[in-house]
Amino acid sequence: MTLYADLHRHLGGALHPRIIYKFLQRQDHPVLGYFPDYEGFYNWFTRPCRTLEEFVKIHTLVEELQSVEHLPYFCFRLCRGAYTFENLQYMEIRYNPYFRTDHKQSTEIRLGQMDEVVEVITANVRPAEYPITVRQILCLDRRLPEELNRKILEVAKRHIGPVVGIDLAGPEIDPGKWEVWVKLMGEARASGLKTTAHLGETSIENVHSQYFPVLDRIGHGIHIPLLKPELLPELAKRQISLEVCPTSYRQTGVLQDFTRLKAVFSRCKAAGVPIAVCTDNPGRNPAPCTLPGEYERLIDHDVIEFHELKEIQNEAFRSAFGFVGTPRI
Ligand SMILES: [Zn+2]
Repeated sequence: MTLYADLHRHLGGALHPRIIYKFLQRQDHPVLGYFPDYEGFYNWFTRPCRTLEEFVKIHTLVEELQSVEHLPYFCFRLCRGAYTFENLQYMEIRYNPYFRTDHKQSTEIRLGQMDEVVEVITANVRPAEYPITVRQILCLDRRLPEELNRKILEVAKRHIGPVVGIDLAGPEIDPGKWEVWVKLMGEARASGLKTTAHLGETSIENVHSQYFPVLDRIGHGIHIPLLKPELLPELAKRQISLEVCPTSYRQTGVLQDFTRLKAVFSRCKAAGVPIAVCTDNPGRNPAPCTLPGEYERLIDHDVIEFHELKEIQNEAFRSAFGFVGTPRI
């Protein structure tokens, strides 16, 4: 059996809507007042959004459900589904630990709860019956103050091992603030963490070449080959991989269809920039959205050819932050 690696998957968007809906039912959650049946919830949860901001709002709802006491429920189902339905051998799951602390508490107390969030996730992403290797990436967020993001970085440093890297997430706001993020990413790297950042997902505005010396991968980055291909040789020189998540761009309103991805793949290939195909928020895409499904869609839409597939699947293992062993492709 061929096994795969997914490097870009958000904990908040990873779960099948049916799992979320059943959880809401168990909790008798007030949001069910809007969705008396599953179909209505499913359509709302998986509908394409006009903008990334709109998409992120629904994400916030799920993050609030994933509190410390409920994380074991979600982590188990996440591993079970990824192993059983997607044949994943290795997965890097990313999340913001602060958003999973108790929202009713003061910032001080919430900061103190972040270590526990990481520990609970670490303990619950290795179910014996589903032998998938899961490593964690902690997300900084552009909407949070620098001091708070620094605290997230400190949590990551304390948990190096289960935590393999740092990401910069949240809507692509304040492109002028890049110095703050470059500094934090540089510190992360100096402490032994790997780094990635959501850049060039919705536009080119956030892409500053000053990021490149402190990044191992770029989350999406599709607007670099599309709008600034002159930057590709620098990425190739540094062997920075792009994490490309095909269906996600349709769901967040970034691309209308897969046609423009042809230029992303062909220009990166010509320049020698590695691409790892990933899922981003598979639970938010119309089902079934799996990593093998994303590979198939790329071939189906003539973005890549079948003979290129193995190389792309290998790239996910090569670009992984914490994979040890032999890929079973
Ligand atoms: Zn993402």
